[in-house]
Amino acid sequence: MTALMVENCPRCGRVYQKNVRNMCQDCMRQVDDEFQKCYSFLRLNRKATTEELCSATGVGIKQITLFIKDNRLPVIDYPNLTYACNSCGAPIRRHQICVPCGMRITAEVNELKEKEAKKPKGTGYYSRR
Ligand SMILES: [Zn+2]
Ligand SMILES: [Zn+2]
Repeated sequence: MTALMVENCPRCGRVYQKNVRNMCQDCMRQVDDEFQKCYSFLRLNRKATTEELCSATGVGIKQITLFIKDNRLPVIDYPNLTYACNSCGAPIRRHQICVPCGMRITAEVNELKEKEAKKPKGTGYYSRR
């Protein structure tokens, strides 16, 4: 096995040898460094919010969000850590979207399904643009 699996690092764009973490060595080191910063700040400030953590450590909200979602910073341990709802940006602590957005999307999906069910089969619905 001499073939190297290489690809561009999604974080910095440099070519690197593919690995389980999907980023190059430099980025890995950087992320681990940022994680350590967050972790040591949270050890002393367990009730910090994401914003406080961000301004205290200089680590970006995006990266903190990834740590939370990866469970490297479990929200169970840190009661005020949140990240933004994918749909409206409201602070949430689990799933990808907040409860109201989840309900809205479910309602929309149901409505679509209903329309779909009422629609007589075999008509030229989709061909009309
Ligand atoms: Zn990189
Ligand atoms: Zn939302």
